[in-house]
Amino acid sequence: MSGDSHDIVIVGGGMVGASLACALAAGGRPARVALVEGFPLLDRTGPAVYQPSFDARSTALSLSSARFLARLGLWEDVRRHAQPIRRIHVSDRGRFGSTAMDAAEEGLEALGYVVENQWLGNVLHDGLRACANLTLLAPARVDAVRRRADRVIVRAKLAHGDEERELDAGLAVIADGARSGLAAALGIVAQQQDYGQQALIANVAHRLAHEGRAFERFTDAGPMAMLPLVDAPDGSARSALVWVQEPGLAEQARALPEPEFLRRLQQRFGYRLGRLLRVGERHLYPLSLTRATEQARAGIVLLGNAAHALHPVAGQGFNLSLRDVAVLAQTLEEACGRGEAPGALAVLERFVARQRADQARTIGFSDALPRIFGSGLLPLAAARDLGLIGLDLLPAARSLLVRHATGLAGE
Ligand SMILES: Cc1cc2nc3c(=O)[nH]c(=O)nc-3n(C[C@H](O)[C@H](O)[C@H](O)COP(=O)(O)OP(=O)(O)OC[C@H]3O[C@@H](n4cnc5c(N)ncnc54)[C@H](O)[C@@H]3O)c2cc1C
Repeated sequence: MSGDSHDIVIVGGGMVGASLACALAAGGRPARVALVEGFPLLDRTGPAVYQPSFDARSTALSLSSARFLARLGLWEDVRRHAQPIRRIHVSDRGRFGSTAMDAAEEGLEALGYVVENQWLGNVLHDGLRACANLTLLAPARVDAVRRRADRVIVRAKLAHGDEERELDAGLAVIADGARSGLAAALGIVAQQQDYGQQALIANVAHRLAHEGRAFERFTDAGPMAMLPLVDAPDGSARSALVWVQEPGLAEQARALPEPEFLRRLQQRFGYRLGRLLRVGERHLYPLSLTRATEQARAGIVLLGNAAHALHPVAGQGFNLSLRDVAVLAQTLEEACGRGEAPGALAVLERFVARQRADQARTIGFSDALPRIFGSGLLPLAAARDLGLIGLDLLPAARSLLVRHATGLAGE
């Protein structure tokens, strides 16, 4: 077993861990960083390979996320395959109210951008390769994280051969996703609230151009989103579907032959994008709100889904995590400047305190949205009708909702 000494070891090179490594490298401090990822890094010149973060999904990036990626020098590359959202149409199927948010009316270039996770992964993983002073271990799995005196020991097993590495660090960042369990092994409890729903995701080709329109439809059976994507290589217009239903229905929908699936989807979604022509691979994601009861302790901090995994309907999970990344990187850089150890509890508590309000607001918003709109209860149904109509009548309230949706609310 060989040993390595680092200021920070990041466990997990998914969307969040990779973003943090790029952010630390951009700031230049702390200097010695290692990242351990269980899968091989993505290679844009090779065939698409799915891994936990970078699979068939697409992500709606907020404006604040786009700005942050620009600060890291990654946005121009992301943007090549990112579709600007010009308008968001929110409606409540079978009810009266509907509202639209429009980028031009809000004086914005876009309300957000939609990018396929595979492309985001290509950019982030090339970003990792370009980081100065970053030690990359991939594919390698971390199977233990423990404290020894004032250091943290991270044990990683390389995928090829039997080699094990013990990395010792001042700080271990646990960004291993919602289900990997390193936090649990450290005795950090996760509170989980099952929504009793699954999200079916797939790319859908349609006859009409989307013109940058995103659609959020709330139905008693669950919410549905169609997010605009850049055109397919053959020039066909397409959108990313997120269709939330109770698990039995979601599984049934996944198994349907393509013509029957398209017929049902068309029935649910309507003809705003014209005829639905084709559907790509379908995948299911069980939905729950998961929150770690502790985000930091001396030498350890949790980030991304390991800290909080949200309902996807509001498209906030990664965007919130990216704001966490920005604030953590800044806090660590400041700490270095003052000669404080990156894993010092006071430093990590400062990070947690700085992000507390944003996390509470965003988690609350993501949790409330499917509950309010997903309820078939009459008073709530009436309220949401009024809410939507009210939003259309009240430009100020709508602007506030836009600021939330674009991730600019906290700025
Ligand atoms: C259907 C759906 C749609 C979504 N849409 C949006 C959206 O539009 N906008 C938005 O902001 N958010 C969205 N999200 C949320 C977003 O996907 C998550 O916030 C994001 O994936 C979290 O990334 P992560 O890096 O924390 O975790 P993960 O994506 O789970 O990545 C964890 C990484 O750690 C690695 N790993 C795990 N264990 C180990 C180990 N022991 N050793 C080494 N490596 C390890 C894994 O291989 C993986 O690469 C959506 C989520 C879902 C389910």
